[in-house]
Amino acid sequence: MSEIPEENELLDVPFGVAREIFEEVQTLKSAQRFSLSELDPEFADKLEVVLTECQKQGYNMVPYDGIRHPVTQGGYWRRSRSSAVVQKKISDLQAAGAGYLASAIDDAGPKNGKWATNAIPGYSWHQWGEAVDCYWEKNGTAEWNDLEGYRVYAAIAEENGLISLGSIGDWVHVQKRSGSIGSIYSLSEINAEMEKRFAT
Ligand SMILES: [Zn+2]
Repeated sequence: MSEIPEENELLDVPFGVAREIFEEVQTLKSAQRFSLSELDPEFADKLEVVLTECQKQGYNMVPYDGIRHPVTQGGYWRRSRSSAVVQKKISDLQAAGAGYLASAIDDAGPKNGKWATNAIPGYSWHQWGEAVDCYWEKNGTAEWNDLEGYRVYAAIAEENGLISLGSIGDWVHVQKRSGSIGSIYSLSEINAEMEKRFAT
């Protein structure tokens, strides 16, 4: 089988684009927004410890993106990519038997904007309930320039056994497992898992 997702990069969304995504998330229906109870339970427990410790140290980290629907992920992936590239990916995925992932990209519809991610649907830990993005609330507002709070959050996350992507420029993001999804699961396993979790 051809290795469709060479897209298995660790990076979720770079910090420079995180603010745009944050603003997009604010427009979602509340049911699609962050809910601790939908996350992987072990991850949620560790995250709570991390957020409490940040708070104790004077940094209020606010989760805004947890479970991210494959179609939403498809939309992020489509940003910055030409329709030819998008159509090729959709047909490659279909040909490889990953019809659900192909549909998630297709259903997202055309998207513009800066490059946001290399992860196609299913290949972000956000689709597995094992990742969360938090902003630093400084003086009552989301801070997108000063990294101080994000550095503390990253350090505390690592101390508590979570993986921070701060060192590769994704300061909002922490996840449960290290490594890429594509190195752990096959394309067909990912397609099946996403279909099970999200297809209605
Ligand atoms: Zn993230």
